[in-house]
Amino acid sequence: MTALHRMGVAELGRALASKEVSSVEVTKHLLARVADHEHLGAWLAVDAEHALAQANAADARRAAGETGPLLGVPLAHKDIFVTRELPTTAGSKMLANYRSPFDATVVTKLAAAGTVTLGKLNCDEFAMGSSNENSAWRAVRNPWDTTRVPGGSSGGSATAVAARLVPAATGTDTGGSIRQPASFSGVTGIKPTYGVCSRYGMIAFASSLDQAGPFARSAEDCALLLGAMSGFDERDSTSAERAPQDFHAAMLTPRDGATASQPLKGLRIGLPREFFPAALAADVNDAVRTALATLEQLGASLVDVSLPRTELSIPVYYIIAPAEASSNLSRFDGVRFGHRAKQYADLLDMYKKTRAEGFGPEVKRRIMIGTYVLSHGYYDAYYLQAQKLRRMIADDFQRCFSRCDVIAGPVAPTVAWKLGDKGDDPVASYLADIFTLPASLAGLPGMSLPAGFGEGGMPVGLQLIGNYFGEGTLLHAAHAFQQATDWHVRAPAGF
Ligand code: GLN
Repeated sequence: MTALHRMGVAELGRALASKEVSSVEVTKHLLARVADHEHLGAWLAVDAEHALAQANAADARRAAGETGPLLGVPLAHKDIFVTRELPTTAGSKMLANYRSPFDATVVTKLAAAGTVTLGKLNCDEFAMGSSNENSAWRAVRNPWDTTRVPGGSSGGSATAVAARLVPAATGTDTGGSIRQPASFSGVTGIKPTYGVCSRYGMIAFASSLDQAGPFARSAEDCALLLGAMSGFDERDSTSAERAPQDFHAAMLTPRDGATASQPLKGLRIGLPREFFPAALAADVNDAVRTALATLEQLGASLVDVSLPRTELSIPVYYIIAPAEASSNLSRFDGVRFGHRAKQYADLLDMYKKTRAEGFGPEVKRRIMIGTYVLSHGYYDAYYLQAQKLRRMIADDFQRCFSRCDVIAGPVAPTVAWKLGDKGDDPVASYLADIFTLPASLAGLPGMSLPAGFGEGGMPVGLQLIGNYFGEGTLLHAAHAFQQATDWHVRAPAGF
């Protein structure tokens, strides 16, 4: 039998169903691995006792005849999802020692499917960042090279899955925080269409962009997780009112005209020329081009398309996201949640000191940018202009989708950089988000799948972007690609 930590979600589900292994055994095995790999910095909280209680309950449900692909499968949550049983900090000192009185909907849904929560995973403070170095607690290391970042903001989720500490994890993606760390860490991740997963209990960064999604080692595992964590939620007013979807079935459904050797026959893949600029790192370009050639061999056809406002996505996102963040983060005032300054002269002084002490530098920068672009004199020039461009970016995608079914390109312009490399240059870090921001602004689904290796032996991800609610098409194409390649099963040396 494969070592327990090497098993993916689907494989583990089968081993649990055939009683080759119990959930308690897997849970104990992974908890020991988590303890042995503390140096990676991926975990902010681990609760062995609660995890074992959940595992026992899952084993009892199996013994009573219940089935389900996730029943007894361990996972962990990005520390941006509130949990009753475990602390939730959002990577911020502001929420040190915070305990939520309720669970996020995504957490509730995954628990109902029988998953076992091992703990909470490190992330950039309030999900703001691209390297996980903005966590108030500690940086996370990339298991492919521990001197490099895992990507962000869901860096703990990516590292935990890549290092085989857990078969799956949740994450959130506001401007790329599932796709980019998945790419940097050699795992698979999907951000569904805005509204597919409930935002209830997901600590808000930029509400019109935030979306939850899974990290796992394959598209198949992602399909199983997304099926369990998605669905309409009346507690989230932006939740999409749609019938529950079976993403796993969609992933397996053959396309019309498909053959055994050409499962993607008829699939038109659009390549936006702006996603392949001269400045794109050669190693990333090579890996992505090779992956595209594989997709062609599988029957897909490649068509040239254009997303002319790709570069503008950066200023548009870095106006809209901070604007929403400045409003969302006003609730952290020392009165209602979390940290409160110990000494202060009066109420205003209490607010000031609480926020000065509780927030880190990147969060403060975003609050200042956000309040600036929303202020009376600048609203029209910045915020309103950005909103108009956001609409045009979404329209550009619709023009592409009249000529293709899926859009493909790189996830990020380079492989994972060294810890500390972009530390004092926030703009350099913002610029690296160029290929993930457009789909976020348009609210489209996007995924990242391992597609080879580049400089320093670091993983390179292929990004696939679908039209609204086209997760099934994305997962189908990604699964076909993974049936034909083995990038996604490669593990970093020593893991
Ligand atoms: N890197 C982007 C930012 O810093 C995206 C973060 C995210 O998707 N949560 O805002």
